[in-house]
Amino acid sequence: MRKRILVNGAGGFIGGHLVKRLKTEGNWVRAVDLKRHEFAEPPADEFIVGDLRDQQVARGAVEGIDEVYQLAADMGGAGYLFTGAHDAAVLHNSATINLNTLEFGHQAGVKKFFYSSSACIYPEHNQTDPDNPKCSEDSAYPAAPDSEYGWEKLFSERLYLAYQRNYGTQVRIARFHNIFGPEGTWTGGKEKAPAAVCRKVSEARDGGSIEVWGDGRQTRSFLYIDECIEGIRRLMESDFMGPVNIGSEEMVSINRLAEMVMEIAGKKLSIHHIEGPLGVRGRNSDNRLIQSRLGWAPMYSLRQGLEKTYRWIATQTELTSTKTA
Ligand code: NAD
Repeated sequence: MRKRILVNGAGGFIGGHLVKRLKTEGNWVRAVDLKRHEFAEPPADEFIVGDLRDQQVARGAVEGIDEVYQLAADMGGAGYLFTGAHDAAVLHNSATINLNTLEFGHQAGVKKFFYSSSACIYPEHNQTDPDNPKCSEDSAYPAAPDSEYGWEKLFSERLYLAYQRNYGTQVRIARFHNIFGPEGTWTGGKEKAPAAVCRKVSEARDGGSIEVWGDGRQTRSFLYIDECIEGIRRLMESDFMGPVNIGSEEMVSINRLAEMVMEIAGKKLSIHHIEGPLGVRGRNSDNRLIQSRLGWAPMYSLRQGLEKTYRWIATQTELTSTKTA
């Protein structure tokens, strides 16, 4: 059935890809973001450039809408979220977006909300061992996220769940684990590790070196964007509300990630470790719950996703250097 859908944050990475998928499925889509998409204009029926912290914008956005995908957030990689310099803005901006979207959506009769939470909600003390982090959904409490970004996500999870409990609003909540792929932020300070590594490798001359924050032995898993979109759609169509991890269980160290990208690029580079904001020591998705409730697991290997992402970022760096030459 053709639905009227709102995607908040459609000028961003995941939101942009989600609009494409929802349009392919035949829906009518309204997109809202502070800015237009930098790399690929999403094929929305309507694109509102507006600030969802503004009550008037948030109220207008949900008018006549059946379902909301709420992906707008004050967001970035470790360089943005873990220095502490943006804590007040991150908490205030993202919480306001969620408070407005949910309240006005509820008033306007929106039937279902998807909320994009994060692996950053998991307690820091369960992620100190790089080889054995614990990120099962039921380990979220007692809560101890290592960033204000994580605390805001946890607050907003609770907000969506409370609306479901008190007002019968249908909600679906996913905790994303490091989503990467083409058409995402790759430079400027808000990029995340896979994009940053692809950029550094593509800009380096063969035989040179790249910088990696910390000793590079910190571990993470990374999920390719197409898989994330599939997980979101399956969750939204199911009767399972979550919160549930959407991630990959293929955990690697950041050093290994860098080596993989070098192999893809066909370059031999040395890794120069420097100080930088790091986040937790180890993190991996735990997919047991999503596997059992939705029968879902990622299909692509990290390597396959990185090949596509590297190709796209290498093209972006070439385009930029041609423009500035
Ligand atoms: P992104 O930064 O590319 O997209 C977020 C978008 O929200 C941006 O385009 C931004 O302009 C928009 N936005 C911010 N403030 C706004 C406001 N006041 N009004 C309107 N729009 C506003 O990030 P993304 O990677 O696409 O992430 C999407 C969602 O998924 C976010 O909520 C993020 O916290 C969550 N998430 C992402 C990851 C990941 O690895 N990418 C991991 C965990 C959670």
